[in-house]
Amino acid sequence: MADGVVENLVIVGSGPAGYTAAIYAARANLRPIVITGFQDGGIPGGQLMTTTHVENFPGFPDGILGPNLMDRLKAQAVRWGTRLVEADADSIDLSQRPFRIQADGQTLQAQAVILATGASANRLGLPSEERFWNAGISACAICDGATPQFRNEELAVVGGGDSACEEAVYLTKYGSRVHLIVRSEQLRASKAMADRVLANPNITVHWNRQIRDCSGGDWLEAIDLVECNSHSDSDSNGGGASERIPVRGLFYAIGHTPNTRLVRGQLEVDSHGYLLTQPGRPETSQEGVYAAGDVADAEWRQGITAAGSGCQAALAAERWLTHHNLAVTMSQDPVDPAEVGEMQRTAVSDEANFDANALWQKGGYALRKLYHDSTKPLLVVYTSPSCGPCHVLKPQLKRVLEELGGRAQGVEIDIEADQEIAQQAGVSGTPTVQLFFQKELKQQFRGVKQRSEFKAAIEQLLGAAVG
Ligand code: NDP
Repeated sequence: MADGVVENLVIVGSGPAGYTAAIYAARANLRPIVITGFQDGGIPGGQLMTTTHVENFPGFPDGILGPNLMDRLKAQAVRWGTRLVEADADSIDLSQRPFRIQADGQTLQAQAVILATGASANRLGLPSEERFWNAGISACAICDGATPQFRNEELAVVGGGDSACEEAVYLTKYGSRVHLIVRSEQLRASKAMADRVLANPNITVHWNRQIRDCSGGDWLEAIDLVECNSHSDSDSNGGGASERIPVRGLFYAIGHTPNTRLVRGQLEVDSHGYLLTQPGRPETSQEGVYAAGDVADAEWRQGITAAGSGCQAALAAERWLTHHNLAVTMSQDPVDPAEVGEMQRTAVSDEANFDANALWQKGGYALRKLYHDSTKPLLVVYTSPSCGPCHVLKPQLKRVLEELGGRAQGVEIDIEADQEIAQQAGVSGTPTVQLFFQKELKQQFRGVKQRSEFKAAIEQLLGAAVG
């Protein structure tokens, strides 16, 4: 990634499409770069990072957690020589060749580009939405419908398109009743799909209704509906009669927005803003630029279809680079890279293996020891096994600690395994990071933050201690 070097292929996006493209391109000796993204358009790893069990990705008969699946795809891409830029792409310039992509303070030049930036599920923006996201509210019934909390419970779907109808019917397999909340007096879905909904005795359609807000304790318990008689007042959320329906699940099916901001005006898009390609093909309107995954797919939007289109994009890019004699290939050295093996997990520290000087440890024992005995700033990260953003944050925190050369330490607390500790610490969601120094809580961070924020906070404590 040195200045002035022209790369064969830069892939923007790190969902199943981006990493599959990387695996194929890396195995073709193209040494691709993946710009993983950081906050723009969702978290690195894409929508699977925010789902729990993925039961329909072939090859995992017992299912796999979405974040674990993404960890594996990433490891496979890296094993074959993919290089990662773990930051958002700031700009993409397709007006000159080689193409120019800015990310992480550098300008990458690339002969070919694969755009795999995905699409973000639209949200309603309810006042309590954040609180119940993944605690009753989901953007994907197909992914999350089978979750135990939804079994034999009343559920709701909002939307009136094919997705909403398909999901309402699908959810009747799990829920005791499905409420379909439609903001107008008609379904936008195809006739066949709409008929299936209307004929299903387990679905109740609530016409001309908007959701005003939702409520519950740790998990969603009810939604408040308000009557709206036309689109003109559908956004006002006020006025009409209101009603509370008890539901344990609320599924959004109100459309997706493709993440095409970086190439706006440079590539052709369809009427909904998705990158335009020939059906079943990855080529965009610009030669040498390919689309993979949901950024060009308004319809299927599955992990496996995204992965398939990533494969197509990589093969098409390779063919194009070879045809134009633009590829500078580099053979794998060694030819068979070392196996990734089982993904390394940090062992929980106990009396026997606790190390007072280790940069990173896990569990309540290490936390108690370091809290009382360590003279260094201590980062405590609260995680849970299915939390995708935690997978993104942990390596970032470890990097901060490495960069600080042992002047600070870190402990990971799994809030499921150490519920009492999490409760005492007042942690209500993951990831949460608490920064302690000299037995005092100095700062708390919720969600994924930039490495620089943690580093600056620790350096400030160290500086103040010296000064
Ligand atoms: P659509 O854009 O077709 O439908 C979105 C729905 O959400 C509309 O009914 C819209 O209402 C409603 N909506 C949007 N914003 C709000 C809001 N703020 N509050 C309440 N309701 C809202 O998206 P889909 O995901 O359903 O479908 C996308 C494409 O994929 C379509 O082409 C569809 O045909 C296709 N598809 C096909 C399937 C199949 O054939 N099996 C399955 C799934 C998708 P309104 O109608 O009032 O605008």
